[in-house]
Amino acid sequence: MRLYTHAHCLQHDPGPDQPESPARLRAVLQALDQDRFAALDRIEAPRATREQLLRVHTPQHVDRILGTVPPSGTVRLDEDTLMSPGSAEAALRAAGAMVAAVDAVLDRGGKAFCAVRPPGHHATPDRAMGFCLFNNVAVGAAHAIAAHGLKRVAIADFDVHHGNGTQDIFASESRVLFVSSHQMPLYPDTGREDERGVGNIVNAPLSPGDGSYAFRELWDGALLPRLHAFKPQLVLVSAGFDAHRNDPLADLRLGSEDYAWITGRLRDLADAHANGRLVSTLEGGYNLLALATSVAAHVTELLEA
Ligand SMILES: [Zn+2]
Repeated sequence: MRLYTHAHCLQHDPGPDQPESPARLRAVLQALDQDRFAALDRIEAPRATREQLLRVHTPQHVDRILGTVPPSGTVRLDEDTLMSPGSAEAALRAAGAMVAAVDAVLDRGGKAFCAVRPPGHHATPDRAMGFCLFNNVAVGAAHAIAAHGLKRVAIADFDVHHGNGTQDIFASESRVLFVSSHQMPLYPDTGREDERGVGNIVNAPLSPGDGSYAFRELWDGALLPRLHAFKPQLVLVSAGFDAHRNDPLADLRLGSEDYAWITGRLRDLADAHANGRLVSTLEGGYNLLALATSVAAHVTELLEA
């Protein structure tokens, strides 16, 4: 199994008051430095190309992100999305990790995890928002379709926030099935069950205070059956860990054992339909200890043959 990351992903620095911080990725990389992860094939993420980004973003958006390189300090794009001198390069590596991981698993099989930031699933075709600059998972899905000719790509998103950007990008793309569990009400206030795209969007909201039982019932009862019926040729995962009970940004009550559980289910999905091909990319998760233990549980399950 491959692990994609890049030192530049630590250089995106939105500032001291921002929960989406370089310390998050340091905590993840430290957790994956344990002996039990020695088998991971560690690969430096390349940059996404302009062509790859333009499959899901407008030229104006790509130009705005790549052209925003403040000499120091930060530039604010919206209420909670800031860019520092290293942000544009980090965003290119975060999206490029997905492209390289998709190429690797489609060419040679297996699974991959992208330990990257900034996260991506809130970024819309023309707008950065919610800590996200480019929509990494969407860039990966679009690459699988455009460069590899896939006809069925599944995106499973278990971040506590709805992946509004991913939904926007693929709302009329029937080759992508986007399936999401998330807390409602919560930022970004999208993700109702009646948002269905062209029948390729499945939203399953959870209520504040919901925990392990509600989460598993939702996935087993509603989301996983849809994913299996779709028979994906590739499984992509927007892996956010902010539904953890100790996360400061939301009110769900999952634990690392729940992340192990959903990862096992998604691994089984990939094994059943996609020759095991699965690529997961880091989205949210803002309690450093919860994030580290949850990512470790996630990657441990992905390593299970
Ligand atoms: Zn989130």
